[in-house]
Amino acid sequence: SIVYLNGAYLPMEEARISPMDRGFLFGDGIYEVIPSYAGKLVGFAPHMARMQDGLDAIEIEYQVDQDAWRGIAGELMERNGGGNLGIYVHISRGADSKRHHAYPKGIAPTVFAFTFEIPPEPRADKSSAAPYSVVTAEDLRWRRCNIKSTALLGNVMHFQQGYTGAHTETILYNHAGELTEASACNVFVVKHGIVATPLLDHQKLPGITRQILLEILRRDGSIPVQERVIQKSELEDADEVWLTSSTKEIAPVVSIDGKPVADGQVGDVWLAAQSLFSAHKFDF
Ligand code: PLP
Repeated sequence: SIVYLNGAYLPMEEARISPMDRGFLFGDGIYEVIPSYAGKLVGFAPHMARMQDGLDAIEIEYQVDQDAWRGIAGELMERNGGGNLGIYVHISRGADSKRHHAYPKGIAPTVFAFTFEIPPEPRADKSSAAPYSVVTAEDLRWRRCNIKSTALLGNVMHFQQGYTGAHTETILYNHAGELTEASACNVFVVKHGIVATPLLDHQKLPGITRQILLEILRRDGSIPVQERVIQKSELEDADEVWLTSSTKEIAPVVSIDGKPVADGQVGDVWLAAQSLFSAHKFDF
């Protein structure tokens, strides 16, 4: 594949960074994944805005130029054959001559992007939905999960907890038994037709799919939505549970810790929500 590295387009095999890069040594960087279908991006502006927020939060001096990035994304999609592509963007603090924790002054950030194939657009159709079977675990990550840091070891370990048991994700809860998110997704719970998702704070990533879905549902108005504290125990009598992320959109969860969610079938509210999402996602 053709990748973008510090201003140049080149084959992945030829892309080189320094082993002294702080992204490599410390996980000192910010990343994004933006989905695209046949060259059309979903949520480009909010993804770029979140990337700037992350860079500002960790004081990497880099101004995101959205027009330039639209150009780079377009170029990468074209050079990699189009289709269904995720655009991965990674900005690390850069390479220093020594390994020292303090933020060095005067080094250039390392800017990297590549594309990878993602599943076709999810269809609002129960029979083609890919239902998730998940486990739950106490969230043992750091307390700055609102920053989309490339330091993902906590997420990777939590993902593996679910994955090793042939499940597909791990839904996380904090010490107080409140849901935070999943290892690579946000979480939604549906009860009596009301869609709820945990409030944003330092314990979870402000997901762009979450943001777009909430906005679409609120504009439509037919399905009530809430952002509130959700207890882990609410998973047990939920009518539906969903996971959201850029490459999955809205994924129905049908089994949690070996027990079915409601009747273990993909739900009607999911169908309505995914239909609305499919109809309006390219507006963002
Ligand atoms: N939470 C975590 C920890 C993630 O890594 C991701 C995305 O990969 C999400 C939530 C979902 O965010 P988005 O909808 O922006 O892809």
